[in-house]
Amino acid sequence: MGKIKQIKTRVENMLFGAYTNIGIDKPSNHDEILDFVFEDILSNADLTSKNLLFDVRKSLLKWIKTKNATYVHVYKPASQKLDTGMLGDRKCTEGLHIPSYMGKATPRITGFNPGVIENVWSEIRNNFEDEGIVYIDAWEDEDDDSDGRVIATIDKSTRKVEYKDDRAKTDKYAQEMIAEALNDIDSTRNVFVCSDCRSDNVQYQTWSNANSDKVIEPILHNGMDGFCPDCQKHVKLVLLEMKGNAKVAGFQVVGEDETPQYGEIHPQMDASFCIYNLTQARNMMDDNNNGEEKWRLLTIWEGDVEEPTMMFEGDPRN
Ligand SMILES: [Zn+2]
Repeated sequence: MGKIKQIKTRVENMLFGAYTNIGIDKPSNHDEILDFVFEDILSNADLTSKNLLFDVRKSLLKWIKTKNATYVHVYKPASQKLDTGMLGDRKCTEGLHIPSYMGKATPRITGFNPGVIENVWSEIRNNFEDEGIVYIDAWEDEDDDSDGRVIATIDKSTRKVEYKDDRAKTDKYAQEMIAEALNDIDSTRNVFVCSDCRSDNVQYQTWSNANSDKVIEPILHNGMDGFCPDCQKHVKLVLLEMKGNAKVAGFQVVGEDETPQYGEIHPQMDASFCIYNLTQARNMMDDNNNGEEKWRLLTIWEGDVEEPTMMFEGDPRN
């Protein structure tokens, strides 16, 4: 994938987040909005900023303003009753072309202060975990560079949610992030991985009827023969139970089993906590150092390495 396309995909994902944040589903003129936001981001925003999400939101608001919108759908805590007097001009949502079947587009409108999305928190994250506790961190000010404030914690073993800020009990955005975290804790999935490198990018062979082209479905089982495009070897496919949200973080290159290099990391790796993409890892494997050493690929899943240092940006399989 080209660099520009990669950035556009990233911006698009953030735009989906921004829609959620103002309480709407994907509008039918999404492509038009994405083009505007992307152009705006390219010319005005710092693409390496960790606050790019906020720039995406600002661009979305800018687009809304170009449509002469005065009001926007926002989430309000359920405890704050909306009276009809607060229902305002819906130009904005007309500009967004929200299909009528979308339930979320039912009026839930309050005054729109340009540049500010009304919500208790402008940013909530649910991916920090320490010693079995998931921390729900929140930021009120979108330009705030600090660590955020813990508004709730979840004990992974008991699933108990402990609120540190009572507003999180009714704030829709906070409730969504807590629900998502609980879902991640609960869910597991069965994944076939490569017996050699543990990559989930694995293939199996099928037979087809020579006359009808009909595929004869194989019986998938633990230990079946397969091929791993990542380490480019014929391997066994091993069935593992993984967390529902388990993701490949990247790769390392380690010593082959039963060789003197076993237990070591490749000399080109900067440290045991560094994670590389597939191209970088393959370059290392091409370098067998003194000509006799045997190195192999190791797929690193999120959580395998504590406090990893990512040595690449973007897709681990680039
Ligand atoms: Zn493999």
